[in-house]
Amino acid sequence: MATVDNPVDREITENLTRIRDRISATAQKWSRAATDVELVAVSKKQPIERLEAALKAGHRIFGENRVQEAKAKWPELKSRYMDVQLHLIGPLQTNKAKEAVALFDVIQSVDRLKLARILAKEMADADRQIPVYIQVNTGEEEQKAGVGPGEADDFIRQCREDVGLDVQGLMCIPPAGEQPAPHFALLVKIADRNGIKKLSMGMSADFETAVQLGATSVRVGTGVFGLRTE
Ligand SMILES: *Cc1c(COP(=O)(O)O)cnc(C)c1O
Repeated sequence: MATVDNPVDREITENLTRIRDRISATAQKWSRAATDVELVAVSKKQPIERLEAALKAGHRIFGENRVQEAKAKWPELKSRYMDVQLHLIGPLQTNKAKEAVALFDVIQSVDRLKLARILAKEMADADRQIPVYIQVNTGEEEQKAGVGPGEADDFIRQCREDVGLDVQGLMCIPPAGEQPAPHFALLVKIADRNGIKKLSMGMSADFETAVQLGATSVRVGTGVFGLRTE
């Protein structure tokens, strides 16, 4: 690793090391391989110097929740760090699908047929097939994106068979103020019965529970970068 010579670089490097250590320790405790859990560093609303610090520390997997914001930051960073893998983890409007396909390497928030069809078309037009995850609204919250747990099987089948998307994973965001474990367990169940291998679940406050229950991606923002500038 390169020498760390300023306070921000040092802070982010230490944070990354600490989160990775906690992921490894939890994986080990539950007889999982630490290498089966990837850390998606959620860089939304963070200053560029903090993103740069993570890149300099060797981190390459990042998550953003808004297309416009990601577009303002990442094309330049990606031109310098070509092996960056950028995940879209927030709701996607159909009129941003083309930009999303151009910029992101994984789209974790597919949750309706219209969006699925437009993504498939934009991927075909761009000759760029990128993996998608289906977002499941495990808490069936009115205001939250995601397909309901009861509709997930049908939706996954349609995305795969009718639309032709490469559905590799499921994603969920448990309701605030509830125990996350039952939501993670529900996501695992839906994945298992649909032959889905990847599970994006767990954030700064609950990623260890998610790793225990089978997460293959944890999405950690503040734990890596510190508090966001709102
Ligand atoms: C912001 C965000 C995160 C990261 O949240 P932290 O609590 O900062 O770790 C994870 N997932 C999604 C979908 C987010 O929008």
